[in-house]
Amino acid sequence: DFKMDYKKDFPLLAESDIAYLDNAATEQRPACVLDAEREFYERWNANPLRGLYELGVEATEQYEHARERVARFVHAKSEREIIFTRNTTEGINLVAYSYALPQLKPGDEILVTIMEHHSNLLPWQMVARQTGAVLKFLECTQEGTLPDEVLEAAITEKTKLVAVAQVSNVLGCVNPVEKIVKLAHEKGAVVVVDAAQSAPHMPVDVTALDVDFLAFSGHKLMGPMGIGVLYGKEELLEKMPPFLTGGEMISSVTREGATYAKLPHKFEAGTVNAAGAAGLAAAIRYVEKIGFDTIMAKEEALTKRAMEGLKKVPHLHILGDEAPENHTGIVAFTIEGVHPHDVSEILSSDGIDVRAGHH
Ligand code: PMP
Repeated sequence: DFKMDYKKDFPLLAESDIAYLDNAATEQRPACVLDAEREFYERWNANPLRGLYELGVEATEQYEHARERVARFVHAKSEREIIFTRNTTEGINLVAYSYALPQLKPGDEILVTIMEHHSNLLPWQMVARQTGAVLKFLECTQEGTLPDEVLEAAITEKTKLVAVAQVSNVLGCVNPVEKIVKLAHEKGAVVVVDAAQSAPHMPVDVTALDVDFLAFSGHKLMGPMGIGVLYGKEELLEKMPPFLTGGEMISSVTREGATYAKLPHKFEAGTVNAAGAAGLAAAIRYVEKIGFDTIMAKEEALTKRAMEGLKKVPHLHILGDEAPENHTGIVAFTIEGVHPHDVSEILSSDGIDVRAGHH
């Protein structure tokens, strides 16, 4: 399998000789994902969770099958713990609005790391502003590690919520989520994991990690844009008010009020992205067919080759750890005296697509 040419599975890449290296931003999609989305509209299209006629029932089945596959993929105990969202950002915002805003009090502490993506920072800045909670930062080393002493000193009785990326989108380092969860739970805090960069590249087991919430995006996992996943522990989701209100998230409505649908539909207001969910299920099937052992070994070999090549470039500095196996396929670098946008533009003229800018 290691020598297989996966490129031919991707229509956009198969037809072109660009070197697309911006996979951390969004991945290309294999034909099987495009086919699955199209198949939904060609064979099962109706508004899921509504129609009582056969097509409507089939549309619902397709959507719920996708949820079951996602639940197995992240080892959730139940499909009720899997909420379909648009992306990681929406999943984290759901937790910020529906869990954190009603819970947090002035003086409570929210802990994030200094390496978070804006999507796992701005929602917590909002919660802190609105509740009077204090937002604190965990500093990492140059290599991107979070030493035990730093974690132990920062997670205290005041900590109510810790939000951390499982894999950094800048350094590619894998954060010690298991250790963070253990320390946080000892103090009664919940842990929100941003799995945008981990779910596509390594096995994620929400039950073994014992995380409270975990979010990722379909489009970074070769799935469609506009479909994402929020995992939440059932007992927490059960107690939370809905994030958005409207159609499909209700069980009954009167002039004065409504009772909400059961999990997971309570958190899925409005017409859902069922074709996107079917596409995501196809992407997961594709990943599982190749297997994470192969994916991880291949990514490590490519990272090693990239780092060896980059090290020969004068004035170039690779950020983060020395070892390619600690990069999860992400290599960030600077070139002394050259603006990153210029580096990207010059590479682009050779058909090499990279991300550049403020991270
Ligand atoms: N978190 C991390 C670590 C990411 O890398 C990204 C995407 N670059 C996001 C969150 C946001 O993902 P999305 O735009 O799909 O919501």
